[in-house]
Amino acid sequence: MKKLAVLLALAILSTTWAATPPGPVPPKADQELARDILRELVDINTTHEHGSTAAAQVMQQQLLAVGFAAEDVVLIAPAENPIKGSLVVRYRAKKQGLKPVLFLGHLDVVEAKREDWTTDPFQLTQKDGYYYGRGTEDMKDGDAAMLETLIRLKREHFVPARDLIVAFTADEEAGGDANGPAFALKEHRELIDAGVAVNLDGGGGSLKNGERLFYEIGTSEKVYVTFTLETTSPGGHGSLPGPDNAIYRLADALGRLEKYKFPVMTTATTRASFEKFAALQTGPQHDDSLAVARETPDPDAAERLSQNVKLNAQLRTTCVATLISGGHAENALPQRAKATIQCRMMPGDTAENVQTLLTNTLADPKISITLDAPPILSPESPPTRQIMEKAGKVVHSMWPKVPIIPTMASGFSDGRQTRTAGIPTYDLGGLWADVDDNRAHGRDERIGVQEFDESVEYTYRLMKAFAAK
Ligand SMILES: [Zn+2]
Repeated sequence: MKKLAVLLALAILSTTWAATPPGPVPPKADQELARDILRELVDINTTHEHGSTAAAQVMQQQLLAVGFAAEDVVLIAPAENPIKGSLVVRYRAKKQGLKPVLFLGHLDVVEAKREDWTTDPFQLTQKDGYYYGRGTEDMKDGDAAMLETLIRLKREHFVPARDLIVAFTADEEAGGDANGPAFALKEHRELIDAGVAVNLDGGGGSLKNGERLFYEIGTSEKVYVTFTLETTSPGGHGSLPGPDNAIYRLADALGRLEKYKFPVMTTATTRASFEKFAALQTGPQHDDSLAVARETPDPDAAERLSQNVKLNAQLRTTCVATLISGGHAENALPQRAKATIQCRMMPGDTAENVQTLLTNTLADPKISITLDAPPILSPESPPTRQIMEKAGKVVHSMWPKVPIIPTMASGFSDGRQTRTAGIPTYDLGGLWADVDDNRAHGRDERIGVQEFDESVEYTYRLMKAFAAK
């Protein structure tokens, strides 16, 4: 996953802050090292088919070479799937006592075909102020920044106040038959257990025409859950249609679902999002954003904002028909019809509640509703003052005065694994990218050279800040 700037649905007030100058970058030697690591990682194909063990091994060697102890640079992989390796690094505090902080980055990338790209996706290419290559944005940039930071901290003899754990993990993108964080939490909890986690696979800054719009801190994600609807009818010869037809019954019920809107629901995060975002707008959207940011959101304002699909997803659980099948022969009455209903729940909503609302809406006892699999509940990590201040300080040390907005993603990332395991998780990516140029998962994925350098310096400051007391 990579963030899809959730708030861009709203027209942004023509910026009141001037185009910000470039942010700070690391010392020359660290810049070069980070670029070399990025090149090395992009050049290793880590798609679902290839796995991430080869990349993890290269990183492991680099850390051993700068003096990390072998027991602090551990490669783990499921016995039945050895190519899906993850590397877990521990940078030890002098004294134990405080709970560690865990940094997360996935090593795998989405498939890319050479013929679709203008450059070789698995060879880092520098061109026109950008690095091109699969994973440059999602998220080998973040992995390179974290590995470089570990090496830099070691060279500087930095001593954290709490253990700093960095997990470079497998299998985030492809649907997770060997998801790294899930595997580590289940089989090696002691290696990655932490008081708080920072995921660089989300959050980050949005640029428009070179101007900094805002920086997002991801605190929560919608929860993925799927239901199957099924109904049957007696069937018979296609020449003798009667009143009981599974396809019509299902179609009628889906028509009711199409018109149904789940109740408006907000969280501490979405209320804060709307409130902060109101400040960037004028006119009715300003007022409506403030009106839904209240503890009890204004229903009329919510209704108006919901006309926009992105904002609708911020305001409620959604369910939508995504697959349908039925009947068995062209010349026969159907005996069966089925539909898949894909839901994205607000954090805090439950599958039971959604199923009850679906039952009421479909309003047909002859249609069965089954939950496909129990959801990975991903409770909101609250945007506490402490976290917002800690992260905000680092962000503003890099990019003074940019608005910082806590957000809920409509998709999901590995953050759901740590959140469901009870580790509050914040998405604090360091990349600035143009809102109109999102190429993650697409062709000619790229990252600005200057933006990459800044993200390396940012990651260094962020790790130091979270390793402090
Ligand atoms: Zn990602």
